[in-house]
Amino acid sequence: MSQNDSKKVSCILLYSGGLDSILSYKVLEEQGINVVAIRFISSFFGSHLLKKENQEKEVQNTKEKYGIKLIIKDISDEFLDIVKYPEHGYGKYLNPCIDCKIFMIKKALTIMSDIKADFIATGEIVGQRPMSQRRDALNIIDRESGAKGLILRPLCAKHLSITKPEEKGLINREKLLSICGRGRKDQIKLAELYGIKDYPAPAGGCILTDPIISERLKKLINLYKDFTPHDALLAQVGRQFLIESNAWLILGRNKGENIKIKELAEEDALILKADSIPGPTAALFRFNNEKQIEISARILAKYCNLKKLKEKDSDITVNIFFQKNCIKKLKVKPLDIKKIECLRL
Ligand code: SF4
Repeated sequence: MSQNDSKKVSCILLYSGGLDSILSYKVLEEQGINVVAIRFISSFFGSHLLKKENQEKEVQNTKEKYGIKLIIKDISDEFLDIVKYPEHGYGKYLNPCIDCKIFMIKKALTIMSDIKADFIATGEIVGQRPMSQRRDALNIIDRESGAKGLILRPLCAKHLSITKPEEKGLINREKLLSICGRGRKDQIKLAELYGIKDYPAPAGGCILTDPIISERLKKLINLYKDFTPHDALLAQVGRQFLIESNAWLILGRNKGENIKIKELAEEDALILKADSIPGPTAALFRFNNEKQIEISARILAKYCNLKKLKEKDSDITVNIFFQKNCIKKLKVKPLDIKKIECLRL
């Protein structure tokens, strides 16, 4: 912060990248508050920003498009524990929304005291989300985060109890808003008022609210006690299978996923690719026997373009790579689709 900034009232805004957080920033800025926008990212939300170059682009775009100075923080490691052991349980799927919010507020509280900010703000709107934005959930979040009275929600402040910064006159409650519920009309009008045209479409929640991925994550977290944030990224790509109960096979469904699988596969994974016939890239993790490799090769073979085979019914050669070296070639028959379905994760 500059010397000038330090004289101003300042706050930490939990910034999600959505319209509500953009508007919250604007409402606060309009009252002369120095807003420090922090975007937390992890393997489950904002994961495209885990790459440094994407982070830099995002910071630049946010500045150019909305005039918002953004700080991005990766909380993947700590957040995985929240996903595994949420004190307040899950929403409809594997989403621990209440614990997630408490955790983020606690983090913001630390940053707030480090930079001597006056309060925390969020773009939440009472009644907008079923789990974490009910009035009783907001009360739990305020109480259990240790930030009671310090969390200002500018878009719906008038529906909520007065906060400390309002009491102290650091911010004018009269100029805060009274939006509530799931509609978007008020936000769209407000965006027009601020001249914000190009903003993201509403997102339904993070990857933990996806029924298929959250079911898969649940199985993997139970199975692998050392499940990592990197594994959580892998769980979001391609077709997935569990082979012989503990080996984990991932197959790309298109060129983009094939590239991503190769990028994400760590040094201990095997990469499988058919020889002389178009087909997916696959990565095999946590294998411990030859049979798992052979079954994986047969699954990969099934998803190759079999029409391109010179002789119908001939075997398919699958190259197996370890750390970029082809360590063996397996000649296999495609596995029956019914058997494949039984292995699907
Ligand atoms: S949807 Fe995901 S990111 Fe949003 S509050 Fe719930 S767990 Fe957190």
